[in-house]
Amino acid sequence: MQDLTHYVDGARVAGTSGRFADVFNPATGEVQARTPLASAAEVDRAVEIAAAAQPAWAETNPQRRARVMMKFVELLNRDMDKLAEAISREHGKTFPDAKGDVQRGLEVVEFCIGAPHLLKGEYTDNAGRGIDMYSMRQPLGVCAGITPFNFPAMIPMWMFAPALACGNAFILKPSERDPSCPLMLAELMEEAGLPKGLLQVVNGDKEAVDALLDHEVVQSIGFVGSTPIAQYIYSRGCAAGKRVQCFGGAKNHMIVMPDADMDQAADALVGAGYGAAGERCMAISVAVPVGDEAADRLIEKLVPRIEKLKVGPYTAGDDVDYGPVVTAAAKEKILGLVQSGVDQGAELVVDGRNFSLQGYEDGFFVGPHLFDRVTPDMDIYRQEIFGPVLSTVRAGSYEEALGLAMDHEYGNGTAIFTRDGDTARDFANRVNIGMVGVNVPIPVPLAYHSFGGWKKSGFGDLNQHGTDSFKFYTRTKTVTARWPSGIKEGGEFNFRAMD
Ligand code: NAD
Repeated sequence: MQDLTHYVDGARVAGTSGRFADVFNPATGEVQARTPLASAAEVDRAVEIAAAAQPAWAETNPQRRARVMMKFVELLNRDMDKLAEAISREHGKTFPDAKGDVQRGLEVVEFCIGAPHLLKGEYTDNAGRGIDMYSMRQPLGVCAGITPFNFPAMIPMWMFAPALACGNAFILKPSERDPSCPLMLAELMEEAGLPKGLLQVVNGDKEAVDALLDHEVVQSIGFVGSTPIAQYIYSRGCAAGKRVQCFGGAKNHMIVMPDADMDQAADALVGAGYGAAGERCMAISVAVPVGDEAADRLIEKLVPRIEKLKVGPYTAGDDVDYGPVVTAAAKEKILGLVQSGVDQGAELVVDGRNFSLQGYEDGFFVGPHLFDRVTPDMDIYRQEIFGPVLSTVRAGSYEEALGLAMDHEYGNGTAIFTRDGDTARDFANRVNIGMVGVNVPIPVPLAYHSFGGWKKSGFGDLNQHGTDSFKFYTRTKTVTARWPSGIKEGGEFNFRAMD
């Protein structure tokens, strides 16, 4: 069994706390490695190193910083298979899906190559007679990010690439479930030319997170994970005076209008509901067909597609549709919620409870489930299941379907399937959810737009990546300047308009 490390000051270093977490191979259920859980003292050391390295990086011109990003993109492409393998091995997702995880992070790195342009400030010549005014965006200093297990490449890159491109140092506290890929990313950044100490990986749990939240040198916290932890981190980080953005859980609804192409809608639901075993914050977990006739047609198309899904380990080939869930605890939680759905009266149309895979009986595999006639009071509707379970809620009208999506406490993503432009436009306009798809089931915005949910899916006012990330990782300074020949009067006692 392998002992994993932290990545501090340009090297892999062993943990000193004496505390570890098991890293599983979810396909077999075996413990394949241990990751060290950092103490507050280990976090302090990383922060000290970051603070010492950051000023010289901030003074490095943005074009040179961008060149590191350019090289990093090249190295990500070179090592794509190795990175994806590390993800699949610890997370369990299929190999093509793991490459997608790296790819969607890489695209944000590509966006960050534009840092020189994105960091240009504003300038007003002659804001008053002989007076110029300019605003510049300066790095924050030492920034930190806490990331979830489900995208161990993409989400760290969404944070550290813009943070570093803006001239900050960054400390990453990745998920303790799949920490190998983040360690590899830190090494690759240094191979790309990033000076040591600027990107460090501190593995850990609540103790390391709290040490980052309370550390007065750490200027900002980015978090992605479940909503209760997002709320905790947001409030504690804000109370400590930091800049904080936190992204939480989801319950994404897909409205299926009677005029939708039902084959397309069923294909979309199967991919978006069961891909990555449903462990995506943008997975569709609720289908909302409008009208009983549409519901019946949809269910009829869904069932054979779901029954055909190939569930297996990533090593079984690229035609596997989804792999195991991440831990035995996750499996137990999912199956517990499925049972609650049955107990509370939902109709289990596809029952995956007895799913077992020969040769992988101890793996954390969960068969696909489809519920019909789910109602909003049921636990399977109110809670995020984060597994291969799709719930169908039948709505009597478009307004009722819209109301369901709007009344849910989560507001990450949603989609509508229809041929009617008016309905689609009305939906996109009125729905109180951050990311909306029109005949697109997983509307994850590209790198040059920004990603973020509303309601209990997002806390803070700036989104991830896109221009928002350059605002999040810099602060604005505005200078009002004149030179001695522009000073015409003596002391001024009152505010007045500029001449
Ligand atoms: P999680 O909340 O359990 O863990 C996320 C991070 O927080 C990890 O690094 C973990 O070590 C840390 N953490 C856990 N408990 C903590 C505590 N008590 N105090 C301090 N830190 C703690 O989430 P997860 O299981 O890794 O990820 C799945 C969740 O993430 C789902 O709810 C999913 O919807 C959400 N998610 C959201 C988005 C988004 O953009 N909105 C994206 C991906 C995942």
